[in-house]
Amino acid sequence: MRHTPSRPHPGREPSMANPRRIYPENAPGEFFVDTRCIDCDNCRALAPGVFGQRPPAAGRDGYAYVVRQPADEAERRAAIAALAACPVACIGSRAGVRPRAAVAASFPLHLHGPVHLLGASSRKSYDGKAYLADLGNHRVMVDAPRWEPHLAEWIAAAGGLDLILVTHRDDVADAARYAERFGARVLVGAADADAYRGPGLQPVAPARPAPLAALMEDPGGPWERLEVIPTPGHTEGSLCFRLDRRYLFSGDHIAFSRLTGRPYGFRNYCWYDWGRLLASVRLLLDHPFEWLLPAHGRYGHLPWPQMRRDLAEVARRGAA
Ligand code: SF4
Repeated sequence: MRHTPSRPHPGREPSMANPRRIYPENAPGEFFVDTRCIDCDNCRALAPGVFGQRPPAAGRDGYAYVVRQPADEAERRAAIAALAACPVACIGSRAGVRPRAAVAASFPLHLHGPVHLLGASSRKSYDGKAYLADLGNHRVMVDAPRWEPHLAEWIAAAGGLDLILVTHRDDVADAARYAERFGARVLVGAADADAYRGPGLQPVAPARPAPLAALMEDPGGPWERLEVIPTPGHTEGSLCFRLDRRYLFSGDHIAFSRLTGRPYGFRNYCWYDWGRLLASVRLLLDHPFEWLLPAHGRYGHLPWPQMRRDLAEVARRGAA
């Protein structure tokens, strides 16, 4: 993984963590988690050696805390990335690392091939992850982070933003600000399109998986590399996007479990139709990919034969 640091952008700083209101489990030292944690898992995914979870119990929610302070510079960078990604700014640094500087130091974070993690999760999307695919002459954002001037500057320096793909209604976040800044089109499933209020909206409702090029006014070019897969279930208008037959941006359709490391569906957070969601999982069995890149839950890699077996198991167990 690599990232592209730059100077933090001047302007209003997001709210800061409060060192006087921290969880008692925090290991003493530079980093701490204050009591506003919403247990979204972003910090544990980025810096698993540093952040742990106090699981939910009767009468209280779960929360994250600092299990131990970073052991080396790589772990400290990971902790700073976690501070940047925290949607409620409840991770603090007694060494004075501030959220905006942390975003500038950590994101976009290169994950693999053309895919970058944008960090800066937004509370508007319930802290969902957003990605950027750099396709050479074109850049595509998948779901949107909170508005961060540093991210906008990075995208501008890379050549701008052509398209924002929204996997479902919950993950619009600050898409409108990015669309306005770059004149980008915004593709949303038709049944979820009312959730987006901003410029460039293009609702789509493919009846079956379709090359993105077939849905664009200017087919060809990089759009041939992307495929739109309708996956109703979590919401009626949920879409997955497959890039290069290798990367699946899955929104809240499926994700890796932080507990098992295997794909799973969010049965307790299925807003539309669990049966339709399982049918959408079965649809993916004919669409190979090896990188699963969700909005919530963990992202990761599995060889397709194993991924396919696990997806079949999700569909089988979910229907039981
Ligand atoms: S990223 Fe922030 S809100 Fe999410 S679990 Fe970690 S400390 Fe809590």
